[in-house]
Amino acid sequence: MIKELSLFNTLGKKKMPFVPINKEKVTFYSCGPTVYDYAHIGNLRYFTFVDTLRRTLEFLGYNVEHVMNITDVGHLSDDGDLGEDKMLRGVEREKKKQGKEFTVWDLAQFYTDAFIADSQKMNFLPPHQLTKATQHIQGMIDLIQSLVDQGYAYKTSKAVYFDVTKFADYTKLSGQKLDEKHVGVRDEVVVDEEKHHPADFRLWQLDQPDHAMQWDSPWGKGFPGWHIECSAMAMEYLGETLDIHTGGIDHIPVHHTNEIAQSEASTGKQFANYWLHSDFLRVDDEKMAKSKGNAYNLSDIMAKGFSALALRFFYLSAHYRTTLNFTWEALEGAQSAYENLWTQVMTARTLVAKTSYSGQKAEIIDEARLTEYVHKFTDAMLDDLNTPLAIAVLWEVIKSESTPATKIAFFEKVESVMGLSLLSAPTLYDDSFLDKATQTEVIEMVIQRDEAKAQKDYELSDTLRESITKKGFIAIDTVAGTIAIPSF
Ligand code: AMP
Ligand code: ZN
Repeated sequence: MIKELSLFNTLGKKKMPFVPINKEKVTFYSCGPTVYDYAHIGNLRYFTFVDTLRRTLEFLGYNVEHVMNITDVGHLSDDGDLGEDKMLRGVEREKKKQGKEFTVWDLAQFYTDAFIADSQKMNFLPPHQLTKATQHIQGMIDLIQSLVDQGYAYKTSKAVYFDVTKFADYTKLSGQKLDEKHVGVRDEVVVDEEKHHPADFRLWQLDQPDHAMQWDSPWGKGFPGWHIECSAMAMEYLGETLDIHTGGIDHIPVHHTNEIAQSEASTGKQFANYWLHSDFLRVDDEKMAKSKGNAYNLSDIMAKGFSALALRFFYLSAHYRTTLNFTWEALEGAQSAYENLWTQVMTARTLVAKTSYSGQKAEIIDEARLTEYVHKFTDAMLDDLNTPLAIAVLWEVIKSESTPATKIAFFEKVESVMGLSLLSAPTLYDDSFLDKATQTEVIEMVIQRDEAKAQKDYELSDTLRESITKKGFIAIDTVAGTIAIPSF
C-alpha cells in the first residue's frame, strides 16, 4: 500500500509527513547558483537533489510551482563586513582568459547560460521561474524598508543591518547558540564599529563605491546583501509561507537562518514549513576547492568520456543526506552500471517492439507484479527520497523473471522520477528511428539470422552477427531470437 510522503525537515530535525498548505499547488523554492563560474560537481549534486524532489512530488500527483534564484549580484564573499567580491574576481579571471573586456553583467549572463546548458544535460526540469536577483532589487528594498519600519533593521554609515537580537529564536534552524555564532563572525571579518551585535547581518551595503553593481535606495546608493534576495523573490512568487525551501547543508547556519529571520520578522508568519538540505560532495575524501584543482565541472567530466547521466546515476546511488565521496573510479563504476541498466532496458523494449513488428501476439502485462513493483519503488521514494533503494528496485525488476512487457510497463511508470532517459532512445523497430536505411538493413539481418539459427547454420549466423555489429548494434541472443540494440 502506498504510504504518505515523509521528508526530513531540518526545522525540527526529523522526518515528517509532508502536508502541503494547498493540495492543489505545492510551493517550492530552491536556492540557486551564484553565477561567477561554472557549477562544480558539488553544486550539481545539490541540483540533482532539487530535481529529484521536484520529480517525486509531480510523480505523486502534486502540481508544483518551482522557483529558483540566480545570484547575479556581486557579494562580498564572507558573511561579515568586508571580503572579496566573487563576481569581481570572476571578471578579472575572464578578462585574462578571454583577452577582452568583460563586465560583471557579461559574467553573470555567460555563467547563467552555462548553468542552463548543464541543467539540460543533467536532465533537470526547468524551474517554473528562474529569477535573477538583479531584476528584483525593488522587492528587496521594499522588504528591507518593512524591517526598518518595524524596528528589526538599522543603518550605520556602511550598511543597513538586521538586528538579530530583536528576532526571537534567531538560531532555531541550526540549533546553534547565538554566542557560537559570534565567534565565527568575529574570526572572519573586519568589524563595522557601528554594528550593534556581531551576528547582525547586512541587508543593504553602502559605502562601496568601486562595486560594479549599484542601485539607489532610501538609505543611499549600494547593493543588497545576499540573503535578502531569496526572501524577496520567494515571497513575491510563492507567497509569505512556502511549503518547501531547499539548499545545501552549508546554508543552514547562515543563509537560511537569515532568510527565516528577515522573512518572518517582516510578515509575522512562518516562512517555510519544510526546510530540506542536501549533504556535501567530497572529492578523494577531501573538501572540494578551486585551489586544490578538485572542483571539477561538467565539462571536465564529459571530457573524460563520462556522460552527464552517468554522473546523475552516481549521485542518485547515494541518499541526499549522506556525504558522498567522488573518485574517478567510483564514477567509472556508475557509468558502467548505468550503461548496463540502459542496455537491459533497451533489450526488453526491443523484445516487445520486435514481437509487435513481427505481428505476433503481444505479451501480457502481469498487472499484479507491476503493481507490486511500482509500490516498492514508490515506497522507497516516499521514505525521504531513498534513491539508492529505488535504484535497487530498478535492478530487481529488470533482472526478474517477469515478462519484458511487464518490465517496460514498470519503467514507463517510474521513469519520470529518476530522469535517467532509459526510455527515450528509439528501438530498432520504432518509427522514430532516424536512419531509415540502416533500420531496414538491420531488421532484415535480424530476420536472416533468426532463420540461419533455426536451420542450425551457425557460420551464417556468426557472419550476420558481425554485420549487425558493424552497423553499430549489439546482437543479443534471447529466447525470442536475435535482439539488435544500438550500442550505448
Ligand atoms: P553556490 O553556487 O555557491 O551558491 O552553490 C549552489 C549550491 O551548491 C548551494 O546550495 C550549496 O549549498 C551547494 N554546494 C556547494 N558546494 C557543495 C558541495 N561540495 N557538495 C554539495 N553541494 C554543494
Ligand atoms: Zn537562497
